Amino acid sequence: MTDGCGRTIRYLRLSVTDLCNYRCRYCMPETGVEKRTHRDILSAEECVEIGRAAVNCGVKKIRLTGGEPLVRRGILEICGGLSAIGGLEELCMTTNGSLLPDLAAPLKEAGVSRLNVSVDTLCPERFSHITRRGRLVDVLAGLEAAERAGFTNLKCNVVLIGGFNDSEIRDFVALTEHRPWEIRFIELMPMGQCVGWERSCFLPAEEVLRQVPALRPCEPSGTAARYRVPGWAGTVGLIEPLSHRFCNRCDRIRVTADGKLKPCLHSEAELSLRGLHGAELEAAIRRGIAQKPEQHHLSDGGSDTPRNMNEIGG
Ligand code: SAM
Ligand code: SF4
Repeated sequence: MTDGCGRTIRYLRLSVTDLCNYRCRYCMPETGVEKRTHRDILSAEECVEIGRAAVNCGVKKIRLTGGEPLVRRGILEICGGLSAIGGLEELCMTTNGSLLPDLAAPLKEAGVSRLNVSVDTLCPERFSHITRRGRLVDVLAGLEAAERAGFTNLKCNVVLIGGFNDSEIRDFVALTEHRPWEIRFIELMPMGQCVGWERSCFLPAEEVLRQVPALRPCEPSGTAARYRVPGWAGTVGLIEPLSHRFCNRCDRIRVTADGKLKPCLHSEAELSLRGLHGAELEAAIRRGIAQKPEQHHLSDGGSDTPRNMNEIGG
């Protein structure tokens, strides 16, 4: 289905929880979030029902996110239910990777086709600092487990933070020499926890091209501009919501863990899907798509959403 601006919407990001075992400083308060009752969060059946209705509205790709999707009880059931929907071409997940050592193989079996694993630094101390409680070894073990399980086309999300990990850009790019991975550098977005951070933290992703001039453009993928070092196995993606607005190419809608459809990550507009079924549910999704705003206002005044990133799903 196309939205009011003529963009074809084919991608749903579905948040299955706002809870997380990490507390990344830019994403979540140190104290975490108030645990909601089961009734406040979409059930596994509701997740699958919303997925099916979205596919009926033209969605071809669903990404599960959170919070941390792998701490969600019943995550394998949700994956199995979604992957069985006829017409869905891709079921992906964004995860912090810490629980992949146990879950990578079952996720593959449940029909997940692709994983994005977030890792902002390759230095163990920095990793524990930025996540407030994570251990880099767990995520590295998770990446290995994912490859063993057959997720060979891994993507790694690296949020670029000036003064924190810009000294590691070359190390991250070097991972693509022998691995067919995509390293995706994401510009830090001033929302939720990091709204008041110093300007120097918000680096344009072009810093990657400045530091690694050997990178050459290749075909873009979704909202990422892509590059590779000629002859290397993997690619490098730049996701630049701040310095290069990609709203005109945006093909996604989001659903939060409490069942609100968000036509745009940075808009405060939300539409509740709870309690809707069948034709009513599809009609609500179509209304949400039709209301998708033309663009966000991140670089002129900041995000309009009052939510933290863990509540929306990145
Ligand atoms: N817990 C999972 C993870 O960390 O991959 C999935 C949810 S997380 C909210 C999804 C993505 O959003 C992660 O790659 C995270 O680094 C990114 N993210 C969170 N807050 C952000 C911000 N303010 N700016 C840019 N990316 C952000
Ligand atoms: Fe958790 Fe992901 Fe947010 Fe980090 S970025 S606190 S891992 S939801």
